[in-house]
Amino acid sequence: MLLEVEGLRVRYGGAEALRGVSLAVPEGDVVALLGGNGAGKTTTLRAISGLVRPAAGGIRFRGRPITGQRPKAIVAAGVVQVPEGRQLFPRMSVLENLELGAYLRSDREIRSDLERVFGHFPVLRERARQAAGSLSGGEQQMLAIGRALMARPRLLLLDEPSLGLAPRVVEEIAAIVHDINRAGVSILLVEQNAEMALGLARTACVLESGTVAISGAAADLRADERVRRAYLGVA
Ligand code: ATP
Repeated sequence: MLLEVEGLRVRYGGAEALRGVSLAVPEGDVVALLGGNGAGKTTTLRAISGLVRPAAGGIRFRGRPITGQRPKAIVAAGVVQVPEGRQLFPRMSVLENLELGAYLRSDREIRSDLERVFGHFPVLRERARQAAGSLSGGEQQMLAIGRALMARPRLLLLDEPSLGLAPRVVEEIAAIVHDINRAGVSILLVEQNAEMALGLARTACVLESGTVAISGAAADLRADERVRRAYLGVA
């Protein structure tokens, strides 16, 4: 198993955001993490990335515990998060934002990785010298994913890549996420867009109030009445 999360608990002050979340990402898979506002999806990703310290529970990556490690060490181990809202440097160029993704690295393959990112996102090559802030929402999402790829992840944590994007652009992002996965990167995909996420994932979990309410094969969740009513807009 590439990533194993066991009994994860996170508190913000007195409030318990995660109340014993367990999930797993097999090597090579896309796993979807669904749920409504405030269910704990982002907190789960932040705990895996080392950005919040869990009150209890364990996280193992490639069999080694990473719970409580610094974010930098977790990135170096191969777990890279693409935050919700992209968090780019808007005044810096597209190229500079991409180069920042490789800041932990000093190897000679940064150039070829840049080419690979441009292969996934040709529009970023065209716009390489433009300020990141001048890109469209979809292009900014592409840049945020491209920047994460520059860190050479084995596991990409994607937080709501479809947020605020038009349906056509969501489809484009979904196709790229699929290609990135086929190129060998495993993905934990947080989405409110269950349709998109279940189309990409092999397995999925639904978080409700900080616990996993439903989990299983993506195809089974698509057929599940509760999921259809709550997350797929089926009356
Ligand atoms: P969204 O889709 O709205 O981002 P989410 O499923 O990602 O929702 P989280 O952001 O993980 O949910 O939030 C889980 C719970 O923790 C919510 O009740 C939220 O209000 C609370 N919370 C999140 N971040 C903080 C924080 N920094 N301080 C206090 N409470 C927080």
